[in-house]
Amino acid sequence: MNNMNETPTLTRTREELTQALADLSGTRALVMTMGALHDGHLQLVREAQQLADHVVVTIFVNPTQFAPGEDFEAYPRTLDADMEALASVGADLVWAPDSSEVYLQTPSISVDPGAVAHILEGATRPTHFGGVALVVTKTFGIIRPDIALFGEKDAQQLAVIRTIVADLDIPVRIHGVPIVRDSDGVALSSRNQYLSTDERVRARALSHAIGEGASAAALGATPREIVDAARAVLAAEDVEIDYVALVDDARFVLLAGTDSAAGQVDEALSQMLLSSQSDAARDVRLLVAARVGATRLIDNAPMALVGGHSGE
Ligand code: AMP
Repeated sequence: MNNMNETPTLTRTREELTQALADLSGTRALVMTMGALHDGHLQLVREAQQLADHVVVTIFVNPTQFAPGEDFEAYPRTLDADMEALASVGADLVWAPDSSEVYLQTPSISVDPGAVAHILEGATRPTHFGGVALVVTKTFGIIRPDIALFGEKDAQQLAVIRTIVADLDIPVRIHGVPIVRDSDGVALSSRNQYLSTDERVRARALSHAIGEGASAAALGATPREIVDAARAVLAAEDVEIDYVALVDDARFVLLAGTDSAAGQVDEALSQMLLSSQSDAARDVRLLVAARVGATRLIDNAPMALVGGHSGE
């Protein structure tokens, strides 16, 4: 581990990275980011310190996960501030490559993680998870971490990455980190910088909706009722709903969702969970995506589906 407040080694080329990696002995944890770092990212680094001898952070706005018309060009790039922030949490090594360093040649391969990548975010952004899968797989190959940490903020991305690692037998442990929120409940996101003062207040609707869904779940609501409770909050606010959905957290299959969740609801699994006589709580996750002005935000929370109360 680096001493706190010591600036991490900054590498740009693959060669610089390879040399710096060779200087690190012991286990390494990887935190992949697109920069514009906030406390959510820094929490990943803090947890990474606990799990490995060294922490390697990548800062790369990956073009292959943005579709034409999305915010690739506008995405905030703040390398100096990011390096300072990473010094404050003791990251050892940063790789901030140009795109040409990551993609030495135009990739002819594509990674399709399957069903998990086609619903929700994958329905709205059909090329997104293919791009994520490609850059994550390449970065694992280049950095060869023992463990990689990803935020639950992007819960579907985490599910996609777990699928890739399992199906391709990539020897890396994947560790999820709970969402870090602002004091008003809004999940920290680099895209919050796009919000006007008024929009920043309206953005609270997402976490409020999730809170309402969680309250319904605690009272024994069905997946459909949980989704409806959350959707009602968003519908009453000045935001444009993309989707509201409840998934089985282990398998990331849809249990209920708005039409725009654009996925097949697994009725059999839903019924199985609901009809079970067991009082054991089942792990599910409520996810929302909505536009606040021109900015698309996502949020989610894990919750338990309480058995035996579904008919009330
Ligand atoms: P990004 O820079 O948006 O690609 O995010 C890099 C990593 O930080 C991803 O694993 C995100 O899920 C994670 N992350 C982003 N925001 C948060 C947050 N508010 N809480 C926890 N993790 C986060």
